[in-house]
Amino acid sequence: MQPVQTISSSTVDRAPEQGWQAQLSGAIRNPKALLAAVGLDERWLPGAMGGHEAFEVRVPQAYLSRIQKGNPDDPLLRQVLPLAHETRAVAGYVTDPLEEADHTPAAGLIHKYAARVLMITSGACAINCRYCFRRHFPYEDHAASRAQWHRTLDYLRDDDSLIEAILSGGDPLLSSDTRLAWLVGELDAIPHLKRLRLHTRLPVVIPDRVDDAMLAWLSSTRLQKVMVLHINHANEIDDAVVQACVKLKGAGVTLLNQSVLLRGVNDDVEVLRTLSERLFEAGILPYYLHVLDPVAGAAHFDVPDHEAHQLHDRLREALPGFLLPRLVREVPGAGAKTPVEALDASLTPN
Ligand code: SF4
Repeated sequence: MQPVQTISSSTVDRAPEQGWQAQLSGAIRNPKALLAAVGLDERWLPGAMGGHEAFEVRVPQAYLSRIQKGNPDDPLLRQVLPLAHETRAVAGYVTDPLEEADHTPAAGLIHKYAARVLMITSGACAINCRYCFRRHFPYEDHAASRAQWHRTLDYLRDDDSLIEAILSGGDPLLSSDTRLAWLVGELDAIPHLKRLRLHTRLPVVIPDRVDDAMLAWLSSTRLQKVMVLHINHANEIDDAVVQACVKLKGAGVTLLNQSVLLRGVNDDVEVLRTLSERLFEAGILPYYLHVLDPVAGAAHFDVPDHEAHQLHDRLREALPGFLLPRLVREVPGAGAKTPVEALDASLTPN
């Protein structure tokens, strides 16, 4: 049997000296190149092409460098390699599982929770995760112009019940620092806002995104800053990610993590325990463990609720309480994340 090798900098052009935009431009964007880079043969290609046509491959080199060469079951590879499963229709799996289209009072704005709004700041990501609940999201309809951004900001100014602005996407950190500095400056000037939250995977997939220009606008706002990262497996946290986290904490950012429970990636107690421990070593608190949103093309990642619940119970025994993420799902129309336990209880007859 061929030994599994980690892809080294000699086999992958990581170009760590380049800026994050150059690394973004150099991301792998087709299945053939991805298979070659991870040492898999072209038997995987037909299935990968099918998935790629629905949702294109995108993998930056910094993330690729953490994948074991020649291992089709690598937990990081499974998150980014399209499979034939994605093209099969499965009952209950839909293009807008969270019904977000019903909660958009202005272009680029989703307001479905009390006291906080979510601003779609960028319509793309640095990596395309195969299980993404927004893989079919019509970002082009939410690409706000400068005038629309002003209307969005007016919406925030006019509603003094809002205390938190959440920058999301896609990945908000794909926007330029010039644009983000302007936007955060505008939010800073809205007196009833207290917090700025960013939902991002960029510091994980291209750690060099956390550069001086980004730290400058992050450090200058009066708003309390929370960054919710997205990490599903401990192998995603290498030294470069740890260094990026050190810089973010130095800028006064509270770091949280949300994961998605994914078949074949992290549906194992020891994998989840190791993830929580590694997160904490990197200065990140485990926050949410989401069950999969039923998005078309991702059914093969599903872990049924009863199994998710059992895993979470065993995880509770393995970890101190502060390292236990909350097991939740998004329910369309609900005012907050819904604990999976609560759903189970509601299904139990009295
Ligand atoms: S980074 Fe987040 S929003 Fe982007 S593809 Fe992955 S899961 Fe989806």
